[in-house]
Amino acid sequence: MRQGSAMHQKLEDEVHKAVKIDIVTKEDAFGLRLWNFVQGLRTLRDMGLTRELEVWGMIDGNLVNGIIDSVSYRNPNADFEEELSSQESQAAQLQTSIRDFFPQKSKTEHHRKVYLTDVKTRRSLKPVTPAVVRPAKVQLLLYHMFLCDMAAGKLDYLKVFRRYGLDPDDTFSDTFMAEIGSLHDEIFDDTPASSAGEAPNGSSQAALKSSDITSSGEEDSRMASTPDLLKYNTLRDLIALVKDEIRLTFPEGADSIGQMLRVHYIHQESGEDIDVSDFPVSRVALEKYLSKHMEWWRGERPAQGVEIEEGFKCLTCEFGNDCSWRESLGQRILAQAEERKRARQANAR
Ligand code: SF4
Repeated sequence: MRQGSAMHQKLEDEVHKAVKIDIVTKEDAFGLRLWNFVQGLRTLRDMGLTRELEVWGMIDGNLVNGIIDSVSYRNPNADFEEELSSQESQAAQLQTSIRDFFPQKSKTEHHRKVYLTDVKTRRSLKPVTPAVVRPAKVQLLLYHMFLCDMAAGKLDYLKVFRRYGLDPDDTFSDTFMAEIGSLHDEIFDDTPASSAGEAPNGSSQAALKSSDITSSGEEDSRMASTPDLLKYNTLRDLIALVKDEIRLTFPEGADSIGQMLRVHYIHQESGEDIDVSDFPVSRVALEKYLSKHMEWWRGERPAQGVEIEEGFKCLTCEFGNDCSWRESLGQRILAQAEERKRARQANAR
């Protein structure tokens, strides 16, 4: 495991206990991701913090997913938010507004909000330059938009399944259901049976609890022979659970999600704090960035390499040896250096 990943795992272990779940089908694999999402929201409500929360969204009809490193009820920089809010009030009098950053306070303002943080690991303890933070900010703005859309009920889960080539009605494997059942006894349907209230094996449906499930094959075969006893058998079934959990976690929909974001840099081995960058959400900035990059994605403009201040990225880029942009960038850097040298010499005369 890479050092950065190890540090992320360490942070995740602070709030989640890893449990191994065997998957048999690709539907199981995605079902597990949805259960992880559900568990993430429950952890957030219970502990005030969750880590590694996966989100999905659509950009220009393309499915994009991402993992938010940290979601919590703690505002990363309430003073900064307050300052920007008061600037907004003043600006409103002049009919210019930064409402894009901070939607006006609503009557539901007293509800606690959740805030997103991206954690980046670094080898160097040096402060982070704006050029390094910029892509992390865009990434976080994107995840914020996805989470807001999910909280507002705008994500089409069936579209997501289609994009991954998943059958929403394919029943999860018995192995997967048994292992999920040992963690979440809610999969056992406790509604009264339609006939005599008895399961085919004679036990009461409501009496089936997770404690009944062991790793023995007996319970596996019992579940296999009584599929009606189980809820959330398929990806389509899980959508309802995911939506319920979203409603509980974000009662005000997208308004339940705060407008202040943080990128937090820590040392990849020691976990020592290096730097933080707090910034307000701006849909305008994100849309501008996306529109420029989607033009390239759709083949409407040629590829464009990095700017000079991000030239350090070329050092580790796999296309570095053949990149004509890099070559011209090198020439520009050289020309600028020579110009500065000439200016210094002229000043010295
Ligand atoms: S080498 Fe070329 S492709 Fe790679 S980061 Fe630099 S400009 Fe971009």
